[in-house]
Amino acid sequence: MVARNSNLAKLPGGYLFPEIGRRRKACQEQNPGAKIISLGIGNTTEPLTPHITDGLTKAAAGLGTPAGYSGYGDEQGFDSLRQAIASKLYNNLVTADEVLTSDGAKCDIGRLQLLFGNQVTVAVQDPSYPVYVDGSVIMGATGDFDQASMQYAGITYMPCLPENQFFPDLTKLPRTDLIYFCSPNNPTGAVATKAQLKTLVDFALANRSIIIFDSAYSAYIADPELPRSIFEIEGARRCAIEVSSFSKPVGFTGLRLGWTVCPKDLVYDDGSSVLKDWNRIMTTVFNGASNVVQHGGLAAVDDQGLAEMAATVGYYMENAAIIEQCLADMGIEHYGGHNAPYIWARFPGQKSWDVFSRILNEAFVVCTPGSGFGPAGEGFIRFSSFGHRADVIEATERLKKLSF
Ligand SMILES: *Cc1c(COP(=O)(O)O)cnc(C)c1O
Repeated sequence: MVARNSNLAKLPGGYLFPEIGRRRKACQEQNPGAKIISLGIGNTTEPLTPHITDGLTKAAAGLGTPAGYSGYGDEQGFDSLRQAIASKLYNNLVTADEVLTSDGAKCDIGRLQLLFGNQVTVAVQDPSYPVYVDGSVIMGATGDFDQASMQYAGITYMPCLPENQFFPDLTKLPRTDLIYFCSPNNPTGAVATKAQLKTLVDFALANRSIIIFDSAYSAYIADPELPRSIFEIEGARRCAIEVSSFSKPVGFTGLRLGWTVCPKDLVYDDGSSVLKDWNRIMTTVFNGASNVVQHGGLAAVDDQGLAEMAATVGYYMENAAIIEQCLADMGIEHYGGHNAPYIWARFPGQKSWDVFSRILNEAFVVCTPGSGFGPAGEGFIRFSSFGHRADVIEATERLKKLSF
């Protein structure tokens, strides 16, 4: 027999979303006629826009012609797409050769963890998107899970709560090799200011740490004062890697296209280049994003594509405003929802899973229990603004009938 990777056994009771799925299924079985509406999993719902669809269908049809056919391409992606991402999305703060495209930000986070091995020390925002922790666990970098604290012994949790404006007190933190940081944040909807990110970058430089910055929701930032990339911050080129994606701004969640920016200035302790190793990993265990999808990505970042992206984002942000108004009318303390598609609601003295079950069984609305994102998420619920307008309206009407 073959021994299991013992680290997999350290992951507690399955992933958050399967558990939500189990409870939803049970609710549906008990209430066969109920129309359950999801404001839960952060999955996009609106169709692709015409210009992007056109880019995809032309590329797909082209593959059926001698002139349009292509096989394997560069693992890093089309030069044209890398160039367009650098110029259109980063205003040339980064160069095309620092942008490696991929099948998505989550996949890149998993592969980035290969760069640092299992001796690496890790800090995460608490609450946070699960893959930072769970991927580190699988790598063997975290030690065991402690049921009492709901924490891994080897991970530094940085509480992000309304009381600290969702930004950790860095003076109280030990040094770690890696700092995962997501802004706009999933799940809290908080967006770090330039001043906050400057303190993070200075902290990383002083400690010789590397920030893995997740900007999957940067397109949702409407406030021009808020930074959309860590590379807007002086010094970040020496201490940060950024992962991002077409999933949330243009609905490529099923198509799959993301990218990672690894600056040439970023080096390990021994002075060697991180980008060189990242290239090595991507050319070894990844074979390039789909050529059809990359054409969709090219369409998404030209002028018409960017205008359509703004419309898609605008639609979801109108949903966010509807959910926010509902929570305000109900007198529920809530955050986010302005420069991010998530609203983070607080239910003092209650357990996230209890609130989740009440909302599911009494309103037939699926949300996400905050405790699933880390111990500091206990007592919170995440509402996602990804949904069809009519469903969002109906969900909020049902919610308004509950009292907490
Ligand atoms: C959705 C999401 C991703 C995943 O993006 P993909 O490109 O679809 O893999 C990454 N980070 C955060 C914070 C997300 O919410």
